Order: sequence, then structure tokens, then C-alpha cells
Amino acid sequence: MPLRCAVDLHIHSCLSPCADDDMTPNNIAGMAYVKNLDCIAVTDHNAAFNLPALEKTCREMNVVLLPGIEVTSREEVHILTYFPDVKTAVDFGRETAAHLLGAKNRPEIFGNQLILDEEDETVGTLDPLLIQATDLSIEEIEARCTQAGGLCVAAHINRSSNSLLGNLGFLPPRPRFAALEVYRGAAAPKVDTGAYKILYASDAHRLGDIAEREFFLPLEERSREGLFDYLKSCRARLGRED
Ligand SMILES: [Zn+2]
Ligand SMILES: [Zn+2]
Repeated sequence: MPLRCAVDLHIHSCLSPCADDDMTPNNIAGMAYVKNLDCIAVTDHNAAFNLPALEKTCREMNVVLLPGIEVTSREEVHILTYFPDVKTAVDFGRETAAHLLGAKNRPEIFGNQLILDEEDETVGTLDPLLIQATDLSIEEIEARCTQAGGLCVAAHINRSSNSLLGNLGFLPPRPRFAALEVYRGAAAPKVDTGAYKILYASDAHRLGDIAEREFFLPLEERSREGLFDYLKSCRARLGRED
């Protein structure tokens, strides 16, 4: 019998300029614990430098952390990428950030891009503005992510901006995502989502917005592997085994 695990697979840390500075590794893990979530994914924009600290803080709180990044395509569409381990995610983020279009962050306008250690001490900041587009197409992002051993989920497809439906106006037949994320704060998507598994997540940029125990996935085990394998099985059902 699969376990019914409460998940929130779309959370931003203080590396994302648009997220609050108190979205620290300890605060995120602590809030996930308080909310009794089984699994979270932290998915900063186009980089993943807070995942090493989060790996430690989540382990202390007995919260499963799925490493992720929210990548911005050249069409300005947000694609969630998930990885089986933190190192792969950090490396993928480094490669992704090299494809950002070139604007520098201006913290007084966009917010801080803080890299923290497991004590929530600031150990660095990032210069390229993370909330700009990359020069990668949606298909290129999916291909690169798959090549790296990751999985792609189209983010908040029903939002009016930075989404498949908002920016493209339709659900492209390619690439095959593992699943589609639907944002609860917007009208339901008016397209046929076919065999796609639909995921719900908070897209929290503030601590209080991290999801309650309200969205569940049936996992064979309460672990990163269990979660990753589940998402993989969603993709396999659509005809992608790799
Ligand atoms: Zn987004
Ligand atoms: Zn987001």
C-alpha cells in the first residue's frame, strides 16, 4: 500500500530575489516541520545554491527535500526541474545561470539573492539577476534536464504570466513533462490536460505561504527516492521511460 505523503514541491528560498530574506534554510525546514509536511522541494529561480544547506536543515527536521530549480525559458515560461540529488541540481543551476540574458541584480529594486549556510549565515550573494529569462527554449530545458537525470514539470500552467497557457496559449505536444502544476490561486486551466498528473503547490515566497497538509502523493516510501520514483512513473505513463 502506498503511503499518503503531504507535499509542497514549489518553494523559494532567499536566493530568489522575489522571496523574503527570512526564507532561510532553517526557517523553511522548520515551517515544513510545523506544518507536518512529509516532502518539500525548494525551487529557486535559475540557480540552486541554497540546496546544500537545506539538505542539512531538512534532514534535522525529518522533512524530505527534493532538489529543484525553477528555470525560465526564453519564452519567459517557468519550468520546474527536479533532481535525484543536490549536487546534480547545483551543477544544473550553475549551467542554467550561465544562460541568463545578462542583467545584473539590483538588490534595492529586485531584492537580495542570498546564499546561506546551514546556520543561516550569509556566505555569498549572486550577481546575475535570477528572475530574468535564459536563452534556452522550453524543449532545450527539458532535454538538458532529462540528460542530467532530472524531471521537468511545467509550473503554474494556469497563471496569466510565466506559464505555458499564459505565454503560449496552449499546451504544446512536446516536450513531455512528467506532470503539470496548477496554481490554486487562478482559474482552472481551460485545456484538456489529458493523461498528465496534476500537481498543486504553494509557490511560496514567504514563510506563511508554505502549504498546509493539503496535497498528497501516493509514495512507495517516504523518501527522496520514493518521491522521485513516483514522478518518474508519472512520466513513464505518458510514454517516457528514460
Ligand atoms: Zn514561477
Ligand atoms: Zn516559483
